[in-house]
Amino acid sequence: MRRTKIVCTIGPASDDPLVLTDMIRAGMDMARINFSHGTSGEHADRISRIRTLAHTLGRNVGIIGDLAGPKLRTGNMAKESVVLKAGDPFRLTSDPIEGDWRVASVSFPGLSEAVKPGETILLNDGAIDLVVESVTAHAVETRVRVGGMLGSHKGVNIPGRSLAIEALTAKDRDDMAFAVKHDLDWLALSFVRGPDDVRLARRCVQQCGGQVPLIPKIEKREATEALDLILRESEGVMVARGDLGVEVAFEDVPFLQKMILTCALGHEVPSITATHMLESMVELPRPTRAEATDVATAVLDGTDAVMLSEETARGRFPVDAVRTMARIAERAERDLDHARFMNMGTQNPGVGSAVARAACALASEVGATAIMVPTGGATTPMQVSRRRPAQPIVAFTRDDRVRRQLALVWGTVALPMLDVRPAEEMIHSCVKAARAAGLVAVGDVVVAVGGPSGGDTDQRNTIEVVRVR
Ligand code: PGA
Ligand code: MN
Repeated sequence: MRRTKIVCTIGPASDDPLVLTDMIRAGMDMARINFSHGTSGEHADRISRIRTLAHTLGRNVGIIGDLAGPKLRTGNMAKESVVLKAGDPFRLTSDPIEGDWRVASVSFPGLSEAVKPGETILLNDGAIDLVVESVTAHAVETRVRVGGMLGSHKGVNIPGRSLAIEALTAKDRDDMAFAVKHDLDWLALSFVRGPDDVRLARRCVQQCGGQVPLIPKIEKREATEALDLILRESEGVMVARGDLGVEVAFEDVPFLQKMILTCALGHEVPSITATHMLESMVELPRPTRAEATDVATAVLDGTDAVMLSEETARGRFPVDAVRTMARIAERAERDLDHARFMNMGTQNPGVGSAVARAACALASEVGATAIMVPTGGATTPMQVSRRRPAQPIVAFTRDDRVRRQLALVWGTVALPMLDVRPAEEMIHSCVKAARAAGLVAVGDVVVAVGGPSGGDTDQRNTIEVVRVR
């Protein structure tokens, strides 16, 4: 059984119900709705299509809404694209003008205050490199250091700079309301700078009348520096390597990835490694060997989930990309060093974490086939998962949303929990359900941890060893 979860970005390439069906069959655990592209009508259609198909196929598929966030972009260009040549002057202005090969507008009134002569501005996701020469009230005069093609609405990055910019745009607030209305299971936050940005997002979600767990995307230098504080406020995290690799030196990305994933394990929250994982499969049916190595490395580094972006949103081989991801992940899991994760320190010391760790140790000592976790919220399964036990984690919950949220959590199969009284019978009812699902067989030994109460750790500190009858 594959333990690493697969997140697929949904787009035009995955809108066909037949394609989506095959993607779910091939192993898609979570769908990502990317609010940077598409209309709310398209998103609503996608959400209902995903839910209907998952239901028909009897699969637990969750949905992540991904907010666009305050990404700086160039404005409209007069022509489709222009070529900037190294050595030429180029002006960036906050005035809303049509751009050409000499000037482009940027959707940020504070641009002039944000940079100083000698600093770098990158366009088109890092492809074009400009150096700032002088700054006036409405414009920044630069010289092209590395040229390239520039079109409308391309990303603008000012590496390492802390920008005085609102963490949530008006569109983000609308998209949050949409996410709450459509009961999405997770919300990813782009360009988070620190814990305040996560807290603000939390308040906004609450104002929309919802409670969606939050996944800050680590894609700015500042966020890597405030990582521990950010994770204290969050239910998950994403290594957003696309923008991160533009904001920091690319040779730092592999080590930041390891740092972020280790920090997520310490905080006992699930992590997603994202962007360019199987990039070549946008055009080709096979991955490069370097891509296979990258996916395997993320698994060995301790990621909960691997993510496909363009590969499934716009690519020519969305189903093959999911299959490829599954194959590489399963192979990497065979070499996972379970003991390393067992012995890794925690940022969340307490009864819950200690009990989860003890359950994993017990499971390996008694040769258990599964670790069963009846739960109210998602906390106990996450605390067990973070130890990366060799046994499948079978979580039981009455809450369908928690069940879908757990689709992101490494090694966890989430099943609905039946209402059983008295409470002592509950473990037996869970064992029966796991047997019906083919996860355990008569004669097997399983370890059951916790109770259905959730929230209160003292209510969850029971471990039982049960023989399947
Ligand atoms: P994006 O985020 O695809 O929304 O830009 C992921 C990343 O930057 O890696
Ligand atoms: Mn990004």
